[in-house]
Amino acid sequence: MIHYKTKAEIELMRESSLLVSKALAEVAKIIKPGISTFELDQFAEKFILANNATPSFKGYQDFPFACCISVNDAVVHGFPTKDGLKDGDIVSVDVGVYKNGFHGDSAYTFAVGTISDEVKQLLRVTKESLYKGIEKAIHGNRVGDIAYAVQQHTEKEHGYGVVRELVGHGLGRKLHEDPQVPNYGKRGTGAKLKEGMVIAIEPMINLGTKNVFHDKDGWTIRTEDGKPAAHYEHNICIQRGKADILSSFAEIEAAEKANPNLCSDY
Ligand code: MG
Ligand code: MG
Repeated sequence: MIHYKTKAEIELMRESSLLVSKALAEVAKIIKPGISTFELDQFAEKFILANNATPSFKGYQDFPFACCISVNDAVVHGFPTKDGLKDGDIVSVDVGVYKNGFHGDSAYTFAVGTISDEVKQLLRVTKESLYKGIEKAIHGNRVGDIAYAVQQHTEKEHGYGVVRELVGHGLGRKLHEDPQVPNYGKRGTGAKLKEGMVIAIEPMINLGTKNVFHDKDGWTIRTEDGKPAAHYEHNICIQRGKADILSSFAEIEAAEKANPNLCSDY
């Protein structure tokens, strides 16, 4: 069942989504070689709690952390670890917050130090595909129009692997609501997009094969061929004409540029 949001609820959701964006921007400021993803997680959790919110992921189906942090061949749902990040790593940080009765849920992939042109392109194209999906996320279209746009740009035009097992989702009082929002599919199919729907669009794109497997930690999803994967996620509200993006990458991108330990020219 799809829960449509009132204007007042959408503003509360914007607050939650923007708090996630701010948490990601704060994380972007401290990423450097040697820092562990466990430290990044602790830092993000403190920031969320200090802003009168709670981390949505902690305790969700017994997930023990505030953030999913997925390095290199880890696609999503990565367990923070005490291993230090290395030059050349790409790090997807996925964060959720719960505030005023609503969840925000956004993700961004950072590149530590120097990365290859091949991986730069993966990051650029994955982020582009998110915005191509958002362009189709308007009243009157269908979920399949978003899915097709993402798949077309990543798989068809660049030969990347689009993960099938994991999808975007409706968002609201629950972290995962209907409808599911896949990153692959046919135009004109699936749930109809209507004003007041809030969804998380989140391309999970692999440099190589689309196939993934569950790590033995029970959570981390990895690419079958060990090649890297990228992940970006925005929360958007369906409107007529143009989607309202509730989260924002502006502060994250500014922090990425200002941090000499992060690559931002991709
Ligand atoms: Mg997320
Ligand atoms: Mg999500």
